[in-house]
Amino acid sequence: MDPHAAPIPAGVRATAPKAADLFQYPLASWSPHCLGFGSEWRYCNGAALRACASGAVWLHTGTDIVASAGQPVAAAADGQIIGYMVDATFRGGVLVRHPMSTGVVITQYWHVWLRSGFTVGSSLKRGQVFADVADMGSRTHFHFAVFNGDYEPHAWNGALPPSACSGFPAFPYRFVDPTAFIAARTASSWRPYSS
Ligand SMILES: [Zn+2]
Repeated sequence: MDPHAAPIPAGVRATAPKAADLFQYPLASWSPHCLGFGSEWRYCNGAALRACASGAVWLHTGTDIVASAGQPVAAAADGQIIGYMVDATFRGGVLVRHPMSTGVVITQYWHVWLRSGFTVGSSLKRGQVFADVADMGSRTHFHFAVFNGDYEPHAWNGALPPSACSGFPAFPYRFVDPTAFIAARTASSWRPYSS
C-alpha cells in the first residue's frame, strides 16, 4: 500500500456503476412463491416434477415469485432477447442476454407470454415491459433465473439434477441465486456513501 496515496474515505466507491451493470427486479412485487433457488423441483403440493433414475429429485435453478395472470414483466437489465420457447406445461420461456462489464449473463423468465412487437433479436432497456405473466390457473406464478455465462442450451433449464445424470450437469452449474444477484446490482445498492 502506498503510504502517500490519499485515503479513500470509508463508504465511498472508487467508481460509479456502469449502466450495463445495473439490474432491477422484473416484477413490481417480489414475494416468494413455493420454490426458491435450490429447492427440490416439486409442485406446491409436493409432487416431484423430475428425478434422476436414482430417484434424486432435481433442484430448482431459479426462484418462483407470486404473480397474477397478465402481470407485466420487465427486463432485469439492458439486453437482447435471444430465445423464446413455448412449452405445453410451462407456457412461454424467454432468455435475455446482458453484456455486463464483468462478462455476459443471461436472465431467464418462465410462464410468460411475449408482448406483441417483441421477438428474438429485440433489444430491451432495463425496466422495459416485454411480456406478461401467463395464466396457469391455481399454479400461476413467475419463474426467474440468472445464468452466469453466455448462451448454451442449459441456460434454458428450470432445474438441474443434484449430481449429473441424463446428460444434464449438476446443480447449480452456472446458475446463481437470482434474488441475491439482483439485490447486489440495483441502483439503490450502489449508494455513493454507506450509512
Ligand atoms: Zn420455477
